[in-house]
Amino acid sequence: MSKKPLFQRIALIGFGLIGSSLARVVRRDGLAGHVCGCARTDKTLAKARELGLADSFTTDPAKAAEGADLVVLSTPHGVYRAIAEAIAPHLKPGAIVTDVGSVKRAAIRDVAPHLPAGVHFVPAHPIAGTEHSGPEAGFEQLFADRWCILTPPPGTDEGAIERVAELWRRAGMTIEMMDAGHHDAVMAITSHLPHLIAYTIVGTATDLEEHLKSEVIKFSAAGFRDFTRIAASDPVMWRDVFLNNREAVLEMLGRFSEDLTRLQRAIRWGEGDVLLDLFTRTRAIRRGVIDAKQA
Ligand code: NAP
Repeated sequence: MSKKPLFQRIALIGFGLIGSSLARVVRRDGLAGHVCGCARTDKTLAKARELGLADSFTTDPAKAAEGADLVVLSTPHGVYRAIAEAIAPHLKPGAIVTDVGSVKRAAIRDVAPHLPAGVHFVPAHPIAGTEHSGPEAGFEQLFADRWCILTPPPGTDEGAIERVAELWRRAGMTIEMMDAGHHDAVMAITSHLPHLIAYTIVGTATDLEEHLKSEVIKFSAAGFRDFTRIAASDPVMWRDVFLNNREAVLEMLGRFSEDLTRLQRAIRWGEGDVLLDLFTRTRAIRRGVIDAKQA
């Protein structure tokens, strides 16, 4: 790995799982002359300081962004707009602003209009994560061998796109370029719907009568526990994902509900061939995921 800094000063606004994992990569490979870590609370910053993950720390996004040639937003989506407004007057000409959010059309809607001319916005989404939050949950291998999707609006400065792409390549990711709307549709089915289903199943189990509920935990290895892992994901982040990718999620949810009703009917009428056909096709998808090294 090269030790030549890609950026003079990086501001990491949001210092949780994703922000702190990126900080670890930046530290490991010397990708920045100076890293400023920014979080909402002193508690998070104290932890980040203890872990030695940045050179300076602040709870003020405007201070973090001052003089930075790269600003990375790694907060829940709900505060994007307020942060963009707060940092805008403090960004230096030519600075690059990027984000790591799970919804890209809304990221462009909430950030781009507030940035001054001469500042480049390159929306990004590293497809890597866990159900854990906070700076202590991060690790430098989080991004290794995963995809990072960039969704720059037409006309975005090519040099800025390339610099953001190079940052994620150094983290071990492979870059894919995509239209923001297409990204949101793909994520609605590959990420957002699975989380919604997990939250629903675990919620349904939580509402069961007491005597059934205790058995759910005891025998969770039968399949339920895999859903509990996903349903343990950060509530604020996921609220914001659904509120900001409403259309695409509702479209996929509609299709899913139709398919679920079809299965319900097949079970009711004893149509084993319908069940067998689906379960056979879905096995092949799993093999595809393993072959693509995304398991
Ligand atoms: P996280 O661990 O909960 O961290 C969020 C961070 O944002 C915390 O450091 C929090 O500070 C900070 N923050 C919140 N409001 C802020 C504000 N107003 N000003 C400055 N900092 C603020 O979340 P995460 O999992 O890293 O997710 C962050 C982003 O990454 C989300 O947009 C999410 O969509 C995206 N993403 C997540 C995953 C995943 O699997 N988790 C994967 C890909 C992308 P405090 O701790 O002080 O509150």
